[in-house]
Amino acid sequence: MTITEENYLKAIYKLAEEEPGQDVSTNRIAAALTTRAASVTDMLRRLADKQLLEYEKYRGVRLTPEGRRLALLTVRKHRLWEVFLVQQLGFNWDEVHDVAEELEHVQSPLLMRRLDEFLNFPTLDPHGDPIPAENGAVRRPAHRLLAELGVGECGTLASVKDTSAPFLQYLDKMGLPLGARVRILEKIAFDNSLEVQINDERTVVISAEVGRNLFTA
Ligand SMILES: [Zn+2]
Repeated sequence: MTITEENYLKAIYKLAEEEPGQDVSTNRIAAALTTRAASVTDMLRRLADKQLLEYEKYRGVRLTPEGRRLALLTVRKHRLWEVFLVQQLGFNWDEVHDVAEELEHVQSPLLMRRLDEFLNFPTLDPHGDPIPAENGAVRRPAHRLLAELGVGECGTLASVKDTSAPFLQYLDKMGLPLGARVRILEKIAFDNSLEVQINDERTVVISAEVGRNLFTA
């Protein structure tokens, strides 16, 4: 497997997660990887030849069980490295993604097993996303978007939908870390912004867009 092939499988896996049961279109893959549709088509044929996905020209693609297994292996490596960077090297959660994008391609099952053990077998990455097991098993918890909680409802911030650095930096600035207790005090009718109480002590107002990018448990 080349780095590019691994990135394709991972991107297709993530796109398929967004719309379960649907085939992933070439255009969505091209957009996710910021590349031209023509080069996407070439790569899809190659991955189909290797039996890692099924590809039909106008319908899109779906991963085969082997393709999915390899995609999840890359996701697993990515997320374990993110935990390592935050817990052991003092990176902030907005600084780890790009480094992990490179580290996820290191090919050493032994290294990953040792890293997993060293980290004491974490189940979540710093963004609250589940770390797939070595056999590809992954448990996606049933989280609700903060924006979907009703007035008076409580929850705990569990993961972020948007993992971009600007969003994570905004959460740091607002004092909204994962694990914080939140309660919806009011939904502002004018623009759907949310008045939220944090850890029973202070109140912040966040936009509806921020509420749609935070998951609660
Ligand atoms: Zn990441």
